[in-house]
Amino acid sequence: MIEIDGSIGEGGGQIVRSSLALSIITGKPFQIYQIRANRKKPGLLNQHLTAVNAAAEISAAKTSGVKLGSSAFTFDPTTIKAGNYRFDIGTAGSTMLVFQTILPPLMLAKEPSSITLEGGTHNPMAPPFEFIKNTFLPLLERMDVTVRANLNSYGFYPQGGGSLKFDIQPTGKLIPLHLKEKGAIKAVNARALVVKLPDEIGNRELRVLESELSQLNEKNVLVVEEGRSAGNVVTVEIVSDALTETVTAIGERGVKAEQVAHTAAVEANHYLASQAAVGEHLCDQLLLPMALAGEGSFLTSVLSAHTTTNIAVIQKFLNVEIETESIAPGLFSVKVHSRNIS
Ligand code: AMP
Repeated sequence: MIEIDGSIGEGGGQIVRSSLALSIITGKPFQIYQIRANRKKPGLLNQHLTAVNAAAEISAAKTSGVKLGSSAFTFDPTTIKAGNYRFDIGTAGSTMLVFQTILPPLMLAKEPSSITLEGGTHNPMAPPFEFIKNTFLPLLERMDVTVRANLNSYGFYPQGGGSLKFDIQPTGKLIPLHLKEKGAIKAVNARALVVKLPDEIGNRELRVLESELSQLNEKNVLVVEEGRSAGNVVTVEIVSDALTETVTAIGERGVKAEQVAHTAAVEANHYLASQAAVGEHLCDQLLLPMALAGEGSFLTSVLSAHTTTNIAVIQKFLNVEIETESIAPGLFSVKVHSRNIS
């Protein structure tokens, strides 16, 4: 049984999610301990518990120690079962992170799957829906996996109530992806989403983005009146020759709208100033599909602890070389290749 120390590197939920996905795909059981040891509330929270239970359901896994607050559990999968699933986190925890857990096995299943998820759709420290739909999934499409993503309602902390549906068309063989410089910037589009809150919040955010972003083409405020929870998200979409990156900042009670927009502008400007196609968050999330393809490479603007930690977890399950190299300030190269000689 593979042993995973949940406190290594970033010491967060990604170690749990990557282990679950890779265990199902490789059929290798694992045990994990010191789960999320570097987080304020360590152990399995509702969102992680839903991810473990979802992973167990799609793989008919035997588990032990899986309960709320657990700091250790074991996981032994049997198969990959495509199908129609619905998973409800029960809180505002991130549905996107549950999706991140079960997508890799289901995209390699023999049949299509349909997944309905309920909980949070826009959470701090998690991929928001727009990042998954407009940045991550189009790259997977280039690797031969087609996923249709639909958001039915928004879910924010603390009320939750978000609902999404993903239709996954799997592939028999992932096509390797290579992404280098971003090339020409075709557009930088900003959006302030305001759900059940005054639209003046969005107008203030756009004013900050207008003055701080090094480039801006289109901008708009999207006001949504329906839904269970209120929330605010600033999204900067950067369309280049290479891909579409999505930078987001989530509004929080007690944080001024101007600060939310400023956070997004700083990250977007950092990305725009680098030649790299891949931004900070996409970087750690591309590693797993690339490792499963047995090959891939890209230039990234940030080499985060999430990235180095994910590399360590991936190498526990797959026989892949993942080389990282600092080329210049704000420019790193990442190369993935299988050590299996085929
Ligand atoms: P963890 O903190 O270990 O639970 O992992 C969080 C995951 O969410 C990582 O894969 C991050 O790359 C991802 N993530 C965090 N913030 C963002 C963001 N603003 N956009 C996209 N992905 C994000």
